[in-house]
Amino acid sequence: MPLEVLEEAQAEFTDYAGTGMSIIEMSHRSPEYSKLHQETKELLRELMEIPEDYEILFIQGGGSTQFLMAAANFHTKAKAAYVNTGVWAKKAMAEAKFYGEAYEAASSADKNHSYIPQSYKLEPDTSYVHLTSNNTIYGTEWQSFPKFDVPVICDMSSDILSRKINVADFDLIYAGAQKNLAPAGVVLAIVKKSFLATARENLPTMLKYKTFADNDSLYNTPPVFCIYMVNKTLHWIKAMGGVDAIAKRNEAKAKVIYDVIDNSNGFYKGHAEKEYRSKMNITFNLANAEMEKDFVAKGKAAGFVGIGGHRLVGGCRASTYNAVPMEACEALAEFMKQYMKDNQ
Ligand SMILES: *Cc1c(COP(=O)(O)O)cnc(C)c1O
Repeated sequence: MPLEVLEEAQAEFTDYAGTGMSIIEMSHRSPEYSKLHQETKELLRELMEIPEDYEILFIQGGGSTQFLMAAANFHTKAKAAYVNTGVWAKKAMAEAKFYGEAYEAASSADKNHSYIPQSYKLEPDTSYVHLTSNNTIYGTEWQSFPKFDVPVICDMSSDILSRKINVADFDLIYAGAQKNLAPAGVVLAIVKKSFLATARENLPTMLKYKTFADNDSLYNTPPVFCIYMVNKTLHWIKAMGGVDAIAKRNEAKAKVIYDVIDNSNGFYKGHAEKEYRSKMNITFNLANAEMEKDFVAKGKAAGFVGIGGHRLVGGCRASTYNAVPMEACEALAEFMKQYMKDNQ
């Protein structure tokens, strides 16, 4: 989270908007919360340029519940296609199998997900194709999105609002808030109204996107505090100059670290192929696991938190989500250069 957002939340934690109450004590039907709820949707529509024929929904259960919810609602034909770009994509596909056949339209598993596949095989009677825009564990990111002739569902949990995307290229976008927007506890879903109209009807109430759409995400108590934090983050993005400015900043941030990798003569080896590199997660290896352990430990001592790679792939990883300031990236780059000098 941006420090400014945390400080603002702290300052008004016990007294929201002069009410004498905390936002977390307020009814979700109160005029104060209503205003915040609507404003959050308006800010999303403005910043992401979400067309009017798309619903904006706030749902609980995290990205992982979206894996099954997307399939429950939209796996309505014989098959569903998944582009397997790593662990999250695979988990999403596993949930789809509860609702029918699911197959890989493409996979990057052959090279430990170090790239984004560029050709796809869609089978007849496919309900939708599911993509994962950024792959946190491997540090790959779709740089652009191809056109498909079936509906497109995209999990944007780890790069939502980090760059400009064309919402109209997708039928359903979902994103757990906890990487770029807010604390864990809310998912943002953006669904095309005409696609929503095709959803399966015979589902439990809380599993239907329609329940959320018909009730303005207020069928039951929404995660008020999380949505409040989303609101604050959106104001912060707007004040930073909007999504384009954030994207430029993210590019520059990632570049200072990628430059160290690229100029290290192989001391640092990037995991992702260059043309698919993520601006959110920078993954790299050192000569061996022992050195990586040392790098992470010395990094930790120098104040860099969480630079160990994901337990599934090892190595090292620097996450450069929206809130991470340029200075933190520059400091890590300096640390990496020094570590290389000391250990070459
Ligand atoms: C982090 C992440 C998730 C996590 O989902 P939760 O259930 O909210 O923990 C899902 N998908 C992607 C692409 C992610 O990066």
